[in-house]
This record gives sequence, structure tokens and C-alpha cells, in this order.
Amino acid sequence: INLSSMKILVTGGSGFIGSNFINNQIKNTDNEILNFDKLTYASNNDNLSSIESSGKYRFVHGDICDKNTLTKAFNEFLPNIVVHFAAESHVDNSINEPEGFITSNIIGTFNLLKISLKYQHSDIVDDFKFIHISTDEVYGSIEHPELFTENSPYRPNSPYSASKAASDHLVRSWNKTYNLTTVITNCSNNYGPYQYEEKLIPLVIKKSLELSDIPIYGDGLNIRDWLFVDDHCDAIYTIIKKGLSGQSYNIGGNNQVSNLEIVKKICAILDYKRPRSDSKKYSNLIKLVNDRPGHDRRYAVDFSKISQELLWRPKHTFDTGIEKTISWYLENKGW
Ligand code: NAD
Repeated sequence: INLSSMKILVTGGSGFIGSNFINNQIKNTDNEILNFDKLTYASNNDNLSSIESSGKYRFVHGDICDKNTLTKAFNEFLPNIVVHFAAESHVDNSINEPEGFITSNIIGTFNLLKISLKYQHSDIVDDFKFIHISTDEVYGSIEHPELFTENSPYRPNSPYSASKAASDHLVRSWNKTYNLTTVITNCSNNYGPYQYEEKLIPLVIKKSLELSDIPIYGDGLNIRDWLFVDDHCDAIYTIIKKGLSGQSYNIGGNNQVSNLEIVKKICAILDYKRPRSDSKKYSNLIKLVNDRPGHDRRYAVDFSKISQELLWRPKHTFDTGIEKTISWYLENKGW
């Protein structure tokens, strides 16, 4: 692959991580991007408005479950790389309405693999690599002080993580059985600009600014590892350039924080950046609510493989990342 100018087909590029990835690629590289997205409720093409007219960016409105539109996109764009973000991604929705998770995350990935294999074997392009973006949630919950490694057993506990686990297994098998060039990434919780407001961090900022109750599941002591989204995008670019076929890489931020600590930190930063007019603390709005079923207690990833083999490391601490994130929401949302 000519690393100086690649053609990258991104699925789900109008969502949170995909739009950060596309913005970073268009601003910092010569790579061309085709964004293939169904535009579900979780997407927002305004996230891409600053790069839309760059000449290196194209958009196709399509569903990865629709083979014809997807095949046409491959044959017209001729990608060297696929970065597959498209998925239903909200755990709460997967508990209430799991169907869409099975369709987009499993059947959609299956379609993409079949089309990618045919495309790779047709030798239209010299080199091709399929990068599948997955989650640390496939490993289930883990006790302190253990960490998930790439060899940890898959133990998904929600319909969302089960659908992601299923898609990871399909990707692995397309590599082992058919020699499709694939890499799988399992990343911890991302945060940063452009995230849809149903997810914890934007939700807490929004509820605070509206002076509504800030709901926290259970006792608030569930722990996740948090990674600033730009660091994830850097890790994916590192994998595009150096990731080895057939491998999976864990990606993490080395920031294991409880939900309650996160919420308190956001409240404290807002107290300072945008003090309440009634001079009360935002943390007075925190309200513990009934826990969600199957709620994993702790995720924590060991990302020594990608840091030792591919020399990637996160550049942000939680403090620097959350500060940038809150500033972005204050400047860009009318909350
Ligand atoms: P998101 O929900 O913000 O965006 C998903 C995007 O995919 C949306 O633009 C949506 O329109 C699109 N999409 C959904 N179904 C589609 C389909 N059938 N065809 C075409 N497009 C479709 O999600 P996100 O947070 O940006 O996550 C992106 C990927 O990264 C997902 O695969 C997710 O599992 C994975 N991931 C996310 C996190 C996180 O913390 N957000 C962490 C690890 C891994």
C-alpha cells in the first residue's frame, strides 16, 4: 500500500468516532475518504461540514446490509483500506430493541466481509486491508486489578457486546478461512467532540447545563477505561500503516475511572467554566437510578501489544481530554 495517499472506505463515518477519524484524516493526510453511512439517529453529517468540500471526501448514503449499493461503492471508489465503524452502538437500546444490533452489527459485517473478499480476490487494487473496529466489551467484566489482553476469553454480557463479539468472530474466520487481510481492534470507552448525547459524558454535560437530574446507574461505581477519541483515531491510523493481518489489538487510555468520579469531575469543571446562576454546585443534580440489567462492573484493557509492537501510545490523560471535550460542547452546542 502506498502509505502517502490511500483510499479509505469508512463505514459509519457520520457517527461519533467515524466523523472524528474522517476529520483528522482529511486535515492531516493526503488520503481520500469515502464515507458509507445509513444516517441513523446516532449520526450527524454536520460533524463533517468543515471537510465536505475538500475534494478528498465523498459520501454515499447506504446501509451495509444492502449488497448492491455497497458493491457499487467498492467498484467506483476502489479502496485500499476499509475501516468498519458502522454499528448500532448504544447498550441501553440493545436491551430494549436488539433486532437492529443483530442486523447491522452481524449481518452488515457479514455482507461487508463477503464483498471485501470478492474485491480483494479480483486484484483490482494491489493491496487491501480490512480494519474492524470493535470494543473491549466483548470480554465481559473483569475484577480489579486484572486487565483484558488480546487472549482473554470472549464473554459478552449485553446484546450489543454479543453482536460485536459475533462480528469479531466472523472477521477472524474470513481471515483464517479465506485469507482476507484483516485486523481487529478492541477499544475501551471513547469520549470527545461529536458524540451523540445519549452517551454518558455528553449526557452529563447536557443535563447539568439544563439543570435537570443527572442520572447514574446503580451505585455509580462501575469502572470503565476511557480514551480520548483523537487518540483512538491515531491508533487506527497506526494500524492502517503497520497493523499485521490476522491480528487483534487492544486499545486503551490507561484511565480507569468510576462513573461517579467522571460525573463529579465534569460537574467540578462546569462549576468553574460556567458557574450556575443560583451559585449552587452542579453535583447537587446527581441522582442514582436503578441499575441496568447485565451492567458490567469493570472494564480495563492491557494495550501493551499495540504500544510495544506498533509504538502507539495515548497522548491524552483523562484530565487533558475531558477539559478539551467539555470546552468543545460548551462552544458548539446550544445547551
Ligand atoms: P455511533 O453510534 O456514534 O455511530 C455509528 C454510525 O454507524 C452512525 O453514523 C450510523 O448512522 C452508522 N450505521 C449504523 N448502522 C449502519 C448500517 N447498517 N449501515 C451503514 N451505517 C450504519 O458509534 P460510535 O460510538 O462512533 O462507534 C463506532 C464503532 O466503534 C462501533 O462499531 C462501536 O462498536 C465501536 N466502538 C465504540 C466505542 C465508543 O466508546 N463509542 C468504543 C469501542 C468501540
